Amino acid sequence: MSENLAKARAAALNDIKLTDDQPAPTWRVIITDSESPTGLAPVCTGERSDALHMIDDYPGGPQRDEDGVYDCCPYPQIETYSTVWAEYLVELLNADAEEKATAEAATATPDFFQPGHTYTREHHGDTIRFLVEHVSTSPDGRTRVAHGWRNRSWEPGWEPSDSDDFTLWTDVTEDGDGRG
Ligand SMILES: [Zn+2]
Repeated sequence: MSENLAKARAAALNDIKLTDDQPAPTWRVIITDSESPTGLAPVCTGERSDALHMIDDYPGGPQRDEDGVYDCCPYPQIETYSTVWAEYLVELLNADAEEKATAEAATATPDFFQPGHTYTREHHGDTIRFLVEHVSTSPDGRTRVAHGWRNRSWEPGWEPSDSDDFTLWTDVTEDGDGRG
């Protein structure tokens, strides 16, 4: 991605008050005052959304009006005067939102051991290394156990090991397979 695109994207996200602790909205095309979906806005999750978006006398039964704009709908609502541009901008913004979500998932702090990672724990001034090969879950789904190999700094060699206690361990995995 070019530097200018990154800057323009960051400015746009900032302009619509998308902060780091807010999930990025999903966008939709909207029909504002024209007859065609030439505008765009975040998907409506307003409090009265279900009631206001309903067309009760729709031929063949009540139908939800996804493209319409009502009091419940969030801003910004952007009119492009073009169905092509509206569609394109919706796709572009949704791709941004997806990328942001993926990036967040990648940097989220895990709450348990991760396969392929190496962990260390201090033990009376020495270091225990735990190389996790896989994680299994008990049949009732209540317990997770990490299985792998353990090495103690005061003893040569590795021995098979498992742990269901994630506390006190520090992830020291470096690039590669974690066996460094
Ligand atoms: Zn709405």
